Amino acid sequence: MLKKICFLIISTSLMLAINAVAKPDECTFPKPNIKRQPYDLFSFNQTDWSNKLFTQATQSYFYINNNNKNISHFIPVISAVIFKNSGWEIDEIKNRFLIATQILQQCKVHINSVNIIHTEAPNKTGIIRHHRTCYNPEPNGEHFITNQLPYLPGIRAFFINKFIIGPAGTAFNLKRAANTPIENTIWLAKNHLNNNPAHALYEIVAHELGHILLNEGHTNNDQPNLMSAKPSKLNNELNDLQCNKIRQSPLVYKL
Ligand SMILES: [Zn+2]
Repeated sequence: MLKKICFLIISTSLMLAINAVAKPDECTFPKPNIKRQPYDLFSFNQTDWSNKLFTQATQSYFYINNNNKNISHFIPVISAVIFKNSGWEIDEIKNRFLIATQILQQCKVHINSVNIIHTEAPNKTGIIRHHRTCYNPEPNGEHFITNQLPYLPGIRAFFINKFIIGPAGTAFNLKRAANTPIENTIWLAKNHLNNNPAHALYEIVAHELGHILLNEGHTNNDQPNLMSAKPSKLNNELNDLQCNKIRQSPLVYKL
């Protein structure tokens, strides 16, 4: 019994110690102030590319035709930042956004256009340090890279080679990252995707967009769904409840 109590005390204090170290360490750095501007489609034309990381960037628009008469809402534009040596091809990314648009059309939501920014990867590697919700200034980290971008309103999607340790896709919605540079960003890692056939069951770009638009995590039941927590239950379906929520997102506009 005494042994048991001792073990409990030791393991509890160990857990406390780990928590006490991990949290302040991650959150030491102050959050930078991000400049918020009213959503203005035309602000892209005034984009200033003259900073260090993105000097080689080229920009083009991919407009997605809407032949669906049932559409009631739209997302004006999503910015896609594609790193040149990441293994991603622009045509594949366009195709994934077309599929993501079809999936969102279940909810009567259309994606009007994708602002494609093709640029050198930071450190020329395309390998990104994943995954800190607290601000972290590492030069290959998500916060630093996002901070180097000129101001882009709306959702930003980063197409990278891989995370040092991390998943094939991730999303920083307002619940996770409000008022940080990475809010409303999604990250897609080509290398992890290629090595995992489980991702063939659903469209990962739509799944990560789902996290942003729903501002929530995964669904935890046995119903097949785009946002399922169970890999075997992932497909491209969204239910009525999710559709209602998506249409109410501040990133989605009424036609
Ligand atoms: Zn997810």
